[in-house]
Amino acid sequence: MKAISLQSGSNGNCIYVEAGGKRLLFDAGICGIRAEQRLAAHGRDIRHIDAVIISHDHSDHIRYAGVFQRKYRLPIYVTSPTLDAALERQRLGPLSDVRHFRRGETVQFGNLSVQTIPTMHDGADGVAFVISWGKKKLGILTDLGHPFAGLDKIVATLDGVFIESNYDAEMLARGPYPEFLKRRIRGPGGHLSNIEAAELLGRYGKGLKWACLAHLSEQNNHPARAIETHREIARPKYAVYTASRYAATEVFHV
Ligand SMILES: [Zn+2]
Ligand SMILES: [Zn+2]
Repeated sequence: MKAISLQSGSNGNCIYVEAGGKRLLFDAGICGIRAEQRLAAHGRDIRHIDAVIISHDHSDHIRYAGVFQRKYRLPIYVTSPTLDAALERQRLGPLSDVRHFRRGETVQFGNLSVQTIPTMHDGADGVAFVISWGKKKLGILTDLGHPFAGLDKIVATLDGVFIESNYDAEMLARGPYPEFLKRRIRGPGGHLSNIEAAELLGRYGKGLKWACLAHLSEQNNHPARAIETHREIARPKYAVYTASRYAATEVFHV
């Protein structure tokens, strides 16, 4: 199984995964042209994607779902509460090929299976993902809210993971965000900090070959800081990367 983060952060999220002849995109938070170009740079054609799977209704994850659907004829997989919430507040445009899954359900694409995991994040009906192919498992664990019960057991099964490492606690505390927003980010429906992500993987990520720290805040984090905190706390035996807000990553393998 191979995976590429095309972009990660509050400015837009999109992760590409392929295995067993199937090609999936997780989230549609970057514009069609950018997704097309970043996939093409890795020798992939966006028109060959089998499904676009949406994690939750926040615009950095769903904003361009309509574009992906209309421009490239891609089916959109989304829960109905997520789609309803997005349609209320955003202009997705007409969508003709929508396939609903339920939160917690596993969706099958050939012999690639996508387990959806309900999150505690403050979206309408958010999910994270574990993608399984044979014995290999890849986690896409962002916009989690907090390290909720059961996440430990999920992390323990993974070979590779994109893990939310949104903010550095000190940078957030000293930074320019208004108090209500700081409270939201730190709160149970917000985002995981560098320390929370590191503790989670350090304790439970025994099978990991790599971790890619994802959804890093522009104002309240820095890639070098996130990696340094991760190394100190998790003492990882696996490789650690960060997913950029401005570019695609390399191709990761599990
Ligand atoms: Zn997000
Ligand atoms: Zn979100």
